[in-house]
Amino acid sequence: MVVGVLALQGDFREHREMLAGLGHNSVEIRKAGQLDEVDALIIPGGESTTIARLIISNGFQQPLRDFCATGKPVWGTCAGAILLAKQVDDLDRPGIEVMDISVSRNAFGRQVDSFEANLDIHGVEGGPFRAVFIRAPIITGVANGATAIATLEDGTVVAARQGNLLATSFHPEITGDERMHRYFTSMRNGRSTDA
Ligand code: GLN
Repeated sequence: MVVGVLALQGDFREHREMLAGLGHNSVEIRKAGQLDEVDALIIPGGESTTIARLIISNGFQQPLRDFCATGKPVWGTCAGAILLAKQVDDLDRPGIEVMDISVSRNAFGRQVDSFEANLDIHGVEGGPFRAVFIRAPIITGVANGATAIATLEDGTVVAARQGNLLATSFHPEITGDERMHRYFTSMRNGRSTDA
């Protein structure tokens, strides 16, 4: 499997290192035409307003929407989750808008309010997953075929799945725990409506 990692801005290198550790080839996606060459796609964390701007200025918006519609696995982490959501609080331009989740940006506060939490993630075996949240969004709603797969103790949704689409508020690429990347790369193809 060749996994594309959108490399317009953000922590795409860390995702590639995790993928390499699992034996997967990965490619930094900087031009829309490269999407034809990959079997799955990760949209990394970073600054969603910046990535959204670069998506539009680099002609990526429709190609990314088309890629999501192929049924190949797509995973957005943190800013990437914001970009996948159909509804976002406080994003100054459209993202990719393909997943039936609503998201609130920077919902835990500023950078100093970054924190870690143990999560039980539906479909991820082997005990709690130590998740790192950095100026993270929360998933305020899931609709249609989207379902929550992880929540904080207070019920706040921090991961959701909709068929081939996966969104996490946290950053599994920086913890050394490869289970979330393993979960993603074993997601079967299938359109988001198949969930
Ligand atoms: N706060 C950022 C945003 O809204 C996301 C932070 C991150 O990806 N770590 O774009």
